[in-house]
Amino acid sequence: MSQDHSSGLVPSRYSRQVLFAGIGEEGQSRIMQSRIAMVGCGALGTVQASLLVRAGVGTLRIIDRDFVEESNLQRQILFDEEDVRAVLPKAVAAEKKLRAVNSLVNIEGLVEDVNAASIARLLDGFDLILDATDNFDARFLVNDYAVKAGIPWVYGACVGSYGLTFPVLPRETACLRCVFESAPPPGVSPSCDTAGVIGPVVSVIAAIQVAEALKILSGRRDRVNRRITTLDLWENRHEVIALPPPNPDCPCCGRHEYPYLDGSLGSDVTTLCGRNSVQIRRREGTSIDLNDLARRLEPLGRIEKNRFLLRASIDGYQLTVFADGRAIVNGTYDPAAAKSLYARYIGS
Ligand SMILES: [Zn+2]
Repeated sequence: MSQDHSSGLVPSRYSRQVLFAGIGEEGQSRIMQSRIAMVGCGALGTVQASLLVRAGVGTLRIIDRDFVEESNLQRQILFDEEDVRAVLPKAVAAEKKLRAVNSLVNIEGLVEDVNAASIARLLDGFDLILDATDNFDARFLVNDYAVKAGIPWVYGACVGSYGLTFPVLPRETACLRCVFESAPPPGVSPSCDTAGVIGPVVSVIAAIQVAEALKILSGRRDRVNRRITTLDLWENRHEVIALPPPNPDCPCCGRHEYPYLDGSLGSDVTTLCGRNSVQIRRREGTSIDLNDLARRLEPLGRIEKNRFLLRASIDGYQLTVFADGRAIVNGTYDPAAAKSLYARYIGS
C-alpha cells in the first residue's frame, strides 16, 4: 500500500516516534503537515536536515549559497567525495541524498543567498526556521524576519569544541537581539577559520535544535526548553542558563525596528567562516549567463562549469560564480580585494 503524508494516515515507518509518548499519533500528524525552512546547509544543516527528513516533516526547504568542498566532509555528514568532484551546490547535494532517505517529504533545495532583499520571498509561509548559518549578519536578519512575522526559530552556533543554542518564540521569549545587542565586528570573535571545529559538537547542537523543533511542530510548545544551552565537549562543560526576559527596549522585539530586514544593517560582502573566502552578492533579480562568462574568462585561466555555477582559477584566486550573479572569491579575506576582483572579471 502506498502511503504519503497527504492521506492524513500516519505511515508505519514512523512507528518508533509515534510510540514515544511525547509525540504520539497526533503529534506525528502535525509534524507531517509542517513546513520548515533551514537557512544554511553546512555542518549544522546537514545534521538538522537528516533528522528532520527522517522524522517525517511535511516540507523541508534547504537554502544554501555554497558548494561542497573537501574540507567540509569532516563534519558535514550528508556530503561525499563525489559531491566535491562535481562541485555540487550544497542545497542540490543535500536534496538528492535526502530524497533517497524519505520520499514522502517534500524537499526543496534552493541555491540562494538569504539576504534583506530575498528573505521574505524565501521564508514566507513556513512554520519554523532553523538556523544553520555561519555568520552573525544572517542570524540577525533571520531574527528580524522571524520576530516580525511571528515565526519561531532556533539559534545554533559552534566553534572549536564549543556550542550554543536557544529557541526564539516571538512574543513569548527573548529574541536574539535581547541576548546579543548586535553582531560583533568581523575578526573579533573566534571562528572556524581561526579555532577550527570538531564534528561532535556540531552534531550535538544540531540535535538539540531539532529536538526543540519537534516539540514546536508536534504542538508541545510547553516542553520547549526556554533557556540557553552551552556545552564544550573538550573542556567537559555543559551549562543551561536562563534566557533573559524579553527586553522592552530591544530594537527588534521591543521597539519593532528591523534594521537588518530593511537593509540598513548588514552588508553585500561577507567574509565566509572556515575559508579564506569572501562572498559578494548582487541585487535581487540579477542573473548571469554562465556560458557567456566562461567564454570571456577562458583565455585568463582554468574554467570549470556545471549547471549551477562556474569556477575560474585566475592569478592565484578562485572565483566561483553562481547564476544569480553571486560570487565567492577564494584566496583572500579582504572584502575590498574581493570586490575589485569581481569588478575586474565578472563586471560591476
Ligand atoms: Zn528582542
